[in-house]
Amino acid sequence: MPAQLLDGSATARAVRAEVARGVAQLQAQRGVTPGLVTVMGGDDPAAQSYVRSIARQAESAGIRCRHQTLQVDRGDAGLQDSLRSLNADPEVHGVIVQFPPPVPLTAGAIAAALDPRKDVDGITPANAGGLVLGQPGFVPSTPLGGLELLQRYGLDVTGMEAVVVGRSVVLGKPLALLLLNANATVTLCHTRTRDLGAACRRADLLCAATGKSGLITGDMVKPGAIVLDFGVSPGPQGKLVGDVDFAGVSEVASWITPTPGGTGPMTTAVLLRNTLRAAQALTPGEPGR
Ligand code: NAP
Repeated sequence: MPAQLLDGSATARAVRAEVARGVAQLQAQRGVTPGLVTVMGGDDPAAQSYVRSIARQAESAGIRCRHQTLQVDRGDAGLQDSLRSLNADPEVHGVIVQFPPPVPLTAGAIAAALDPRKDVDGITPANAGGLVLGQPGFVPSTPLGGLELLQRYGLDVTGMEAVVVGRSVVLGKPLALLLLNANATVTLCHTRTRDLGAACRRADLLCAATGKSGLITGDMVKPGAIVLDFGVSPGPQGKLVGDVDFAGVSEVASWITPTPGGTGPMTTAVLLRNTLRAAQALTPGEPGR
């Protein structure tokens, strides 16, 4: 039987509706409108399109969203000045910086300057450390959205063999930690993994997060496994494709995310929810996170 779809678009709509209700309540009770700023230095078309999509969805949830372009020629100092002024702006509750930062801007400079309470995509050392230590804080939206998708379908990862392919700071590593915190037994794979197929075939839950289209084929998947595809690459005729050979893997897996319409929409929905939470926590009189 072909795998059932984990419908990220429909689930994300439900999350966004909840966020919109939370925003309306915050406005009614405390007169606060959550504010999100997207920050970008380069002109990567995929990042530009993501930023436009965040803005559209934020506005429809009642979140004020604006974009700030960085002056690349001012280097790290310019970036840090921009972030410090956003830290100090009471109308800004969340900041998301598009990665990778353009040369010569560095990820370290961003992490050092951004207020962790406004770090709604979980990139600062304080929030990344909180994830390792199991403490409250913001977690990168893409892995958090993937886990939430499973939860909303009632798929409990406790005790599962989970295999994550890809170990980036924004996706693979935090995903592995989230799964570990949710009591899965986790294996993290990368380009130096000796036998990727063998590792993947052990997985009850297989998460592909590499950006290499077609990397995961049906013969690498255990029958009945759940497959989350985070990869996004340009495919034929301008369509986006994931890391997973969808047709082949659907014949073997029990549940699978499509691309597009799987993990992608969840990322933005969870980012908006994090922004609402930041606004709630930063509002005077509210107990801390
Ligand atoms: P990244 O920083 O380039 O990291 C890719 C990771 O995949 C690296 O850890 C790399 O291993 C590993 N990898 C690459 N080829 C591999 C192979 N053949 N076998 C095993 N591991 C391999 O990318 P990223 O930022 O994590 O993004 C990954 C993908 O997710 C991209 O397609 C990106 O567009 C997508 N993405 C999606 C969302 C969403 O909302 N769904 C959000 C963010 C990113 P090494 O560490 O050994 O090099």
